[in-house]
Amino acid sequence: KEWLDRHERRFGHYIGGSWRAANEHFAADSPRKGEYFATNAPGRKNAKLADVAQGTDADVDAAVQAATKALPAWQKLGGHGRARYLYAIARHVQKHARLLSVLESLDNGKPIRESRDVDVPLVARHFYHHAGWAQLMETELPDSAPIGVVGQIIPWNFPLLMLAWKIAPALAMGNTLVLKPAEFTPLTALLFAEICHEVGLPPGVVNIVTGDGRTGAALTAHPGVAKIAFTGSTEVGRIIRKATAGTGKKLSMELGGKSPFVVFEDADLDSVVEGVVDAIWFNQGQVCCAGSRILAQESVAPELLAKLRARMETLRVGDPLDKAIDIGAIVAPVQLERIQELVKQGVDEGASLWQPSWSCPTDGVFYPPTVLSDVQPASTVAQVEIFGPVVVFMTFRTPEEAVSLANNTTYGLAASVWTESLNLALDVAPKIKAGTVWINCTNVFDAASGFGGYRESGYGREGGKEGLYEYVKPRWMAETKRAKKD
Ligand code: NAD
Repeated sequence: KEWLDRHERRFGHYIGGSWRAANEHFAADSPRKGEYFATNAPGRKNAKLADVAQGTDADVDAAVQAATKALPAWQKLGGHGRARYLYAIARHVQKHARLLSVLESLDNGKPIRESRDVDVPLVARHFYHHAGWAQLMETELPDSAPIGVVGQIIPWNFPLLMLAWKIAPALAMGNTLVLKPAEFTPLTALLFAEICHEVGLPPGVVNIVTGDGRTGAALTAHPGVAKIAFTGSTEVGRIIRKATAGTGKKLSMELGGKSPFVVFEDADLDSVVEGVVDAIWFNQGQVCCAGSRILAQESVAPELLAKLRARMETLRVGDPLDKAIDIGAIVAPVQLERIQELVKQGVDEGASLWQPSWSCPTDGVFYPPTVLSDVQPASTVAQVEIFGPVVVFMTFRTPEEAVSLANNTTYGLAASVWTESLNLALDVAPKIKAGTVWINCTNVFDAASGFGGYRESGYGREGGKEGLYEYVKPRWMAETKRAKKD
């Protein structure tokens, strides 16, 4: 609250190392002067937290210009020089961990336990990890050069973590950038801008421009941007691909998913149940790699379903800032409506709905944990990303059938396989078309391993050595050896 009040609950863009009010370039009497939008707390009666500037083409242009100006000095600094800033950012993220976690949970609705124990520590880890890579760039990637000014567009489900996945490798490899956070959750990106300021990052290296899809489109179209890194829906990914076709811009796309959660009959069902809780109720199921399709072997399906229902009775939905809750708020009412509509459609298509006997609190945007069973593989709920706390439950008889069901969507982001037989796991895992396959676990991330999709889940990787290649261009230098004439 103190931090919001210090900014009078009104935020501009962070461009060239200073704050720029909304539409600064418009004349004072212009009706477009000062266009702002509200960002709300979905876990608290959807109450308004602050007004945030709606970025225009001119704001995006100013940010790209600032990033272009900052580029030569940032590159000249070299890997060791840049690493110092990345280490400093990581330390300052840790220093402000409490404020970052509270702000993230307020703006997004995720449980404070998650933002405090998962999101923010992983953000720091990404900056530490990439600080290391910055120092190694010259020796480990000697034939690579920074790309230039990078445009980064991120979603609302992990606002700060997606920012870290984008900003840390871009800076490490010597690029400067303009990042646009999602319109539902811009606040932690703005606090992050303050952290960049606090560590003395040179002006223009990181620029944050807030706004909705129009601002993202302006960034995508800007000729000064050499690469677009996008995380979001497959639908918007397609728009960006079309918009950049023929421009020579490099692209990376982290898109949607409908990840299978495959349970074989010899699996430890109690662990499986905890795995499901983590797979689909972590972050209210608003996770690109959420295990949103349980595929259970027929012989154990009834027992698993019974155990799952019993566990669901014990889950608590409520105020994201309450440390005792398991499930927080859905990011916005429009997203809640989408979930409700899809669940209704599932039931209309013949699925059986199961929700716990308790009701959700009414003073926020809440939805209970939900299982849809008796689902047909071709039905809408089995195919479409619901992006909420809703899992569909299907059965299979043989490992071959499990693999074929697992691959039966247009996506390919992640999967998890549950069995006590290592042979079976190692046989099945490579046959599933997914960028990540977890065995007897789920939602395990690390800065050192590349994350990304196959098929309509996108391309490119974030994290790991693979993630670095997204922020460099190969460079081949030939040196003419002058023949000694004498
Ligand atoms: P979204 O596609 O609606 O929005 C993502 C971002 O794109 C936002 O910042 C938005 O303002 C911007 N945008 C919208 N229209 C644009 C346009 N025409 N041009 C440029 N930018 C535009 O997605 P969302 O609802 O914020 O996020 C949910 C989606 O993100 C889900 O599909 C989820 O699976 C996906 N996601 C994927 C990953 C991954 O790593 N693969 C990670 C997190 C989320």
